[in-house]
Amino acid sequence: MSNRTLKLDDTLYQYVLDHSIREHPAQSALRQATASHPLAGMQISPEQGQFMALLIKLMGARRTLEIGVFTGYSALSVALALPDDGHVLACDVNGEYPRIGQPYWEQAGVAHKIELCLGPALATLDQRLAAGETGLYDFAFIDADKVSYDGYYERCLRLARSGGLIAIDNTLWSGQVAAPATTPDTASLQALNVKLHADERIDLSLLPLSDGLTLARKR
Ligand code: SAM
Ligand code: CA
Repeated sequence: MSNRTLKLDDTLYQYVLDHSIREHPAQSALRQATASHPLAGMQISPEQGQFMALLIKLMGARRTLEIGVFTGYSALSVALALPDDGHVLACDVNGEYPRIGQPYWEQAGVAHKIELCLGPALATLDQRLAAGETGLYDFAFIDADKVSYDGYYERCLRLARSGGLIAIDNTLWSGQVAAPATTPDTASLQALNVKLHADERIDLSLLPLSDGLTLARKR
């Protein structure tokens, strides 16, 4: 027995998928529709989507933020887990990618829960704060440009209610965070990881799931 997280080789990873994934047909179809996209590697894994859906249900979340939509798999996973009057404020600077996913949001019957907000996400979040939405959100998923992560985190922390959860993606960055930074993205993720470790405003867990998923619960 090891007290360290297992390294998953292809066989064990396939075992995890075969023995746990319960996708809605629209989720499988959206993954297929994204697979041939040159940036398909940006999409979260199905086991991560299912884990986030479980968190949403455990929390009884109703209002959520998504920073970085791409073709909409994570938004779809969260929306499916929300109650019928739940809401995802889905922010992306690029309108072309979410258009690929919208038919699958419709197919799953959750399009009415997803408000797509196009534009730089920092500005969108500032607008929501200015509109008085401080403390209104139960859950946030941060998965856009890495150099802006600290800005997204600070804004999500204000928009979240006490007890709300902020999930931050790619915090292990293919392992590059453990070596001297050679890119602004790596440096930004390293600085945020250091800051979160000492941040007394949150409870913290850095999960070695997929590319690293940090969970920050607002105290
Ligand atoms: N969560 C998505 C999924 O599950 O498929 C993947 C998101 S992908 C890693 C990052 C997204 O962030 C891209 O769609 C990109 O257009 C968007 N993005 C990059 N810079 C942004 C910005 N300044 N504001 C909002 N979105 C941005
Ligand atoms: Ca990601």
